[in-house]
Parts: sequence; C-alpha cells; structure tokens
Amino acid sequence: MRSHLPLAMLASGTHSSGTHSEGDGHALHQPVLVLNASYEPINVCAARRAIVLVLKGVAMTEEENGHFLHAARVAMRLPSVIRLLEYRRIPHQSRALSRKNILLRDRNTCQYCSTALPSGELTLDHVIPRSRGGLSTWENLVACCHSCNRRKGNQLPHEANMKPTREPRSFNLHTSRHIMRLMGHSDDKWRKYLFY
Ligand SMILES: [Zn+2]
Repeated sequence: MRSHLPLAMLASGTHSSGTHSEGDGHALHQPVLVLNASYEPINVCAARRAIVLVLKGVAMTEEENGHFLHAARVAMRLPSVIRLLEYRRIPHQSRALSRKNILLRDRNTCQYCSTALPSGELTLDHVIPRSRGGLSTWENLVACCHSCNRRKGNQLPHEANMKPTREPRSFNLHTSRHIMRLMGHSDDKWRKYLFY
C-alpha cells in the first residue's frame, strides 16, 4: 500500500509512534533502485547496501520507502531510491554475469518448461553445452529446473527438442525495465525513474 504520510516530514526522527516498525530484518532486504548521478537507473540493490552507500557519502536518498531502520538510538528512514553523487561510467551490458542475475533476468522461471521455482530449485543451463563449445555468457546461460537440466544433458537445443522460451540476452536495465517494474511493483516511487 502506498503510504499517505507526507514525504516532506523528513525533519528529525520524531516518529515516536513507530507505525512502520515491521521487522527491520525484512525491511533491510527490500529492493532499492540505484540511480546514476544522471538519474539513469543502473542497478537494484538491497536496502542494507543502499544504507551503507548513503552513510559512506557515496549516494543520497532520493525516495524513502516509509520504513524505519532502528539501530541503537537512531531511527533512519529506509531509502526506496538512491542516487550516486558522482557519475559512474557504466559500459553497456556490463552487469555482472552471475547466477543471481541470470535468475533475475529469467524471473526464476525454468526457460524450458516455464515453471517458476525458488532460486534453490533452479540451476543454470548452458543452452549450447560446454562440452559442445558453449560459453558461459549471458546469451548461453538460462535458468533451468533440475529435471529439464537432466533431460537436456549434453544435447544441443534442436537435438533435445528443447529451446529456451525466450532468447537469452544480456541483462541491462534498458532492456529489462519490466523486471524492475515487477520488483518495484509495490513501490510507485520507482516509476518516474523507470518510465521516462
Ligand atoms: Zn524445467
């Protein structure tokens, strides 16, 4: 639900009512949109990391999410959107190739049988198997359930008659706003940065 509290009420931490105190642990994992100094969206990170960036003076909070972090005697509003203070050159399609990012791109969905599964129940499949010269690249790795992974084995897609439901692509924020929109579905504050 969108908070109806006026955002302007930033001054001090006088929120003694504690209306938004729902476990800090959960709140620290909330996704935060990271903007470049130019306001271009460049990443999504967990609130915990966003706070570190803000406290280090690397980024500033652009939008808050209405939750508080209570640490010691300090209450800090958790960011929903942060912006880097110094512009960083982000080479196109340079996002780290990682299991996490591949699963994010593929929305935790097996790209062969279209089953959505928890991360722990998915593996990465080389579309062209490594044994056949396939590389570990954005274009050759897809999220895959264990059963499809076993079934496909060392076969090429046409040999196994198993083709990824969507052609795997490099994950960059320009081509994947829909993913960010899904992640930020409960957060209207992301919208103005993602849809321009
Ligand atoms: Zn599958």
